[in-house]
Amino acid sequence: MAKNGQTLVIGLGRFGRGVAETLGKLGHEVLGVDASARIVQACSTGMTHVVQADATDVEALRQLGAADFPTAVVAIGSDVQASILTTYTLVDLKIPRIWAKAITAEHGAILERVGAHRVIFPERDMGVRMAHSLVGRTIDYLEIDENFVLVETTAPREAAGKTLQDAGLRKRYRVTVVAIKRPGGRFTYATPDTVINAGDVLVIAGEPKSAELFADLD
Ligand code: ADP
Repeated sequence: MAKNGQTLVIGLGRFGRGVAETLGKLGHEVLGVDASARIVQACSTGMTHVVQADATDVEALRQLGAADFPTAVVAIGSDVQASILTTYTLVDLKIPRIWAKAITAEHGAILERVGAHRVIFPERDMGVRMAHSLVGRTIDYLEIDENFVLVETTAPREAAGKTLQDAGLRKRYRVTVVAIKRPGGRFTYATPDTVINAGDVLVIAGEPKSAELFADLD
């Protein structure tokens, strides 16, 4: 199998399987690896290439041609030792892009130290996102980076019946309305002439503090 542009996904639990199946749907070639025969069997219908192997075994990884993959995702979570050893082996094989999931801050710090290029904390990040969604009018909250977030929120009462220009939200709250959706409709880009109605859903962009303040208005 030609490896260019392909991804090696190691550990096919809930997270790894989500990564592998989504990459497959996006048209990418994926090689899924899991130590469990039961998991490999369960994944064989949804994935083109899936093999049973212990990823901490460097020889097994070599035989799978792991060294030729440009990208590898280490999606082993609960077995921290296996996650670290696998990452270490992939670094040793000089895979150019290694992303690994961590379950605790300490686990993440070790993965970085070992040489993972990016460490993901899916449970922590989802917890943060969900907590934001529980507060105020926030429907969903996406942190792009430390100083910039996208927030899906219902329109505040004070803006109802006004155009975006007249509502002056950027000036007053330092948030930019990016898109708007009428009840039952679809999202469209917002322009200065767009009228905000009660019940509309907005996607706003801005700094976290500003976006949180805006989503907390009545
Ligand atoms: P999730 O929370 O995403 O379900 P888990 O950590 O529970 O993740 O599962 C990770 C998967 O990694 C399991 O299916 C497990 O069989 C697999 N796994 C664990 N250790 C190894 C290993 N050394 N080599 C390959 N796969 C492994």
